[in-house]
Amino acid sequence: MNVLSRLLSGSSSQTQKQRVSSMSDAYRFQIGEIRATVVSDGQMLVPVAPIYSAFAAKSEVSAALVASGLDSEIVELELNLLVLEFNSRKILIDTGCGRLAFYGDNGHGLARLKSAGISPDEITDVILTHLHPDHVGGIGDVQPQRLHFPNARHYVSEIEAAYWNSEHPDMSRQGLNEEGKQVFRDVAHQALSLLGDRAMRVKDGQRICECIEVISAPGHTPGHIILRIGSGHDQLIHLGDTIHHPAIQMAHPNWSSEVDSDPTLAEQTRRQVLSSVSSEQSLAVAYHARYPGLGRVTTMNEGFVWLPVDKGAITQW
Ligand SMILES: [Zn+2]
Repeated sequence: MNVLSRLLSGSSSQTQKQRVSSMSDAYRFQIGEIRATVVSDGQMLVPVAPIYSAFAAKSEVSAALVASGLDSEIVELELNLLVLEFNSRKILIDTGCGRLAFYGDNGHGLARLKSAGISPDEITDVILTHLHPDHVGGIGDVQPQRLHFPNARHYVSEIEAAYWNSEHPDMSRQGLNEEGKQVFRDVAHQALSLLGDRAMRVKDGQRICECIEVISAPGHTPGHIILRIGSGHDQLIHLGDTIHHPAIQMAHPNWSSEVDSDPTLAEQTRRQVLSSVSSEQSLAVAYHARYPGLGRVTTMNEGFVWLPVDKGAITQW
């Protein structure tokens, strides 16, 4: 278990399940004229407690997982990297854990992009939904400094960049211990330093890369963004980390995680975004849902249900 894993688990003796990833394939589908590909960076395996037990009894969260046929103690978070090809652009959304080997068997994104026929040199744009380690770890190496997508323009929310660049980012409502918070700050600083002038600042409502609208979705982090990806009548909503795991936060949007910077705002945003995706009957991709992370959302009782989309239900390319 590496240092980041210990910090998140709160215990160096926490047992950790290791799984050899089998996600070597690329999942291809079409959104209007946009060709989309999902590859997996791997998985993070995180303990129910303390990550998801701050706003619910651990037994309740475990019961929700078991009801979905999942492990009661360890939550498996997929790392779905989405590539969009539209006109002459190749756009990557979030980059996985990369060099950080963050809490499990991951960091395979770069190799899997290559085996899917996508050269890192060809990536024209990289959009980061926020600056947490499992989303920015794959942008490059720190020593020596080297970007994995050297020809790409990178996009970060201006609020997100300002938050992590501030002298004392407010992490007071997060459950992480001080050492853990410092690691999150360090990783975000390293990412911003590595990107330098390449990090274009974006804001709510801005259209980028010809086919994407940036939508502010604060709470997980202050500058967390989701993306409305559209072509013709087709659209896909990239949910970022609006939800961490569908089995936990769809039925219970109030079960914010320990890494939400503002758990109350995270719940509010979660409800707004999921209501909107549900009423629009839009296709969505959830970064941490089971590979390839595609689904639709419907309402049930006080919460929501995630309906994974299988291959037969969407257009392949
Ligand atoms: Zn994440």
